Amino acid sequence: MNQLIKLYLSHFPKGSTELIEKAYKFAKEVHHGQERASGEEYFVHCKKTAENLASWGLGDTTIAAGLLHDVVDDTNIELEQIEKEFGKDVALLVRGVSKVGKLKLRQSAKMDLVENLRSLFLVMAKDIRVVFVKLADRLHNMQTLEYLPDFKQKRIAKETLEIYAPLAERLGMGEIKGQLEDLAFPYVYEKESKEIEKIYEAKGRELEHYLENVKRKLRENLERQGIKAQIDGRAKHCYSLYRKLLLKNNDIEKIYDLVALRILVNNIADCYKALGVVHLAFRPAFALAPIKDYIANPKTNGYRSIHTNVLGDNGYVFEVQIRTFQMHEEAEYGLAAHWHYSESKKSGRVSDVELEKGLRIEDEYLTQLEWVKRLASWQQSEKDPEEYLKALKTDIFNKRIFVFTPDADVIDLPQNSTPIDFAYQIHSDLAEGCSGVKINGKIAPISTKLKNGDIVEIIVSKSVKGPRRDWLEFVVTTEARSRIKKALRSK
Ligand code: MN
Repeated sequence: MNQLIKLYLSHFPKGSTELIEKAYKFAKEVHHGQERASGEEYFVHCKKTAENLASWGLGDTTIAAGLLHDVVDDTNIELEQIEKEFGKDVALLVRGVSKVGKLKLRQSAKMDLVENLRSLFLVMAKDIRVVFVKLADRLHNMQTLEYLPDFKQKRIAKETLEIYAPLAERLGMGEIKGQLEDLAFPYVYEKESKEIEKIYEAKGRELEHYLENVKRKLRENLERQGIKAQIDGRAKHCYSLYRKLLLKNNDIEKIYDLVALRILVNNIADCYKALGVVHLAFRPAFALAPIKDYIANPKTNGYRSIHTNVLGDNGYVFEVQIRTFQMHEEAEYGLAAHWHYSESKKSGRVSDVELEKGLRIEDEYLTQLEWVKRLASWQQSEKDPEEYLKALKTDIFNKRIFVFTPDADVIDLPQNSTPIDFAYQIHSDLAEGCSGVKINGKIAPISTKLKNGDIVEIIVSKSVKGPRRDWLEFVVTTEARSRIKKALRSK
């Protein structure tokens, strides 16, 4: 238990350990005698899940839920008892990661997955922390995947690549996403992952040596300018390198950023100062990749950092990422890091500076929740599991675009969305009264594919009693599709 408590206290120095200790003893006792496929005591899995959560900076409620997450599925303890012993919040989180309807006949693995996701998303809209528990559980399952039979390995690894890693990314948990992908990669793409490994082996030593020199040079230059910085060098995650290779027709010579350097500084002003230092020490390679300022223009998942590519001594090009320590924590642990601040704020354990950070974060956090709520609301309308999974992948995890209402409200949509998708996102009355649309002030067809930054104005006419059947041919969001179908049925 010591390791877990230590992790928790490192994020919450004055936190109470009572709940965690109680959950620890409880889970250990009820799982007693059970084993994992690895032959290890089952409880080890519960402990590892909880340790993941503690290391991401989550609080005692979430950690307790991590310890108890398999109790309902795998022992004869009922949810009611969890609620009585550990309170409503812990019970809700445990419910979200438990299988639904234990007594129901298992139809197929895919059906199982869909049912599990449905229950997860339903709870997610009420309490986002359930996703952290699920991801922590999945991370440990992936780390111990080798002990399962082949056919299960492949299925679970594929699920991880298609659902859980994108989910982590959507929540801004970049480091977790990278870990999940790299763990799944060898099981889903056996041959390809071996090739990537070879590339790293062949180039590894050369790169390492090279990086050390670059780091030294940068450190000296930063020091001279009086900038306090931490410099990390690292190889890219294997799976993301593989994806890049696919884009570049497998030409490793075109992947110039096999390694990346990260400069962490104390504040935003130092980020831009450090950028200057980097560009004076190494020539920027603007022709290959423009400089990306995600501090001035954060990514939609909240990611902030400056990326620049520079030319090294012997023709090497490498990427340098510059960000503050705070941004770094958010980039690695995403929403989990945000949650940490709001939890500490509630308990009055933060300084004013942290409080201010927390308030800004809370806004971002609420925007994140919008799509979570949408996910929960339409997930009940789609009954076919195939369709449901397809919709999930396109709606939630694909690239998003952001368009504006005439009042400058931002609407978040999947790529290829049309004005009808846009209208349904706002209100079905607006969509169903739609007689035309103006995009950026000009009349346009209602099936136009919207682009990032478009200002969309729906023209409403009382004589229009939509929807029309042919809308189904071009809408892309599940929201629009299911509402159109429903309205057509009731006509
Ligand atoms: Mn589990």
